[in-house]
Amino acid sequence: MTRWYVASLADGDTHLAEPPSPEHLVTAQCDGRRFRPLVALPATPLDEAQICPACQAHRVGKPQSNSTRR
Ligand SMILES: [Zn+2]
Repeated sequence: MTRWYVASLADGDTHLAEPPSPEHLVTAQCDGRRFRPLVALPATPLDEAQICPACQAHRVGKPQSNSTRR
């Protein structure tokens, strides 16, 4: 089961990933990048600006056009 993992506090840097390996690294669904998450989120992040757009599209299963950014 994939969950959201915060790679950094920068915009668009919270990614979907499988649960961490024993080394505490997760692999981002979007680009396969491995990182050590700051925190694992129990649900979709409240702040959409922090969500990786590619991972969000991956989660929905198809591209979305309603990714509103303020
Ligand atoms: Zn991502």
